[in-house]
Amino acid sequence: MSSICPGCGGRYPDMDGPHHAYMISSSGCWHAYGLILAHEYADKVLFDAVHRLSVDTFALQHPGDPNDRRANQSVFLHYISLYLIFDKNLPHPMATRALKTLSRIPMPQRPIAPGNYDHTVSDIDLTSAQSHMESVMLWARSTFEAWTILRPSADSIIAKSEL
Ligand SMILES: [Zn+2]
Repeated sequence: MSSICPGCGGRYPDMDGPHHAYMISSSGCWHAYGLILAHEYADKVLFDAVHRLSVDTFALQHPGDPNDRRANQSVFLHYISLYLIFDKNLPHPMATRALKTLSRIPMPQRPIAPGNYDHTVSDIDLTSAQSHMESVMLWARSTFEAWTILRPSADSIIAKSEL
């Protein structure tokens, strides 16, 4: 048996188990994401290449309850991280540092989530480090584009924060 994840819309095997406190997903999706992270933690080259993107992309695809302050904050922060990496060519550790600064700023109310993505956790190919990197890149890029409605807010938040 399988079911659709309420966050990313991907299909995953049914299972009992935990999921994140406010990034609402099915347990099957959360489990599949855990496998991605395990591969990244086990391989420093892979970690440095895509771990930042995996974390940001999973968060954006699982925006949770818009009335939950942490969930709302998370959507903006993780979008801004991808924005800094993809559009401003910031190295990943600098994006992580920027998020620490920005996390203290209250974010506006987020718009309605896209809810439909070209790539999800279920498309990450863990067969090799190379396929893992390539599939995370596609997942991250397409998710960043799906959330393009956040771009004007990201611009003004970055401008105000003096990053
Ligand atoms: Zn999901």
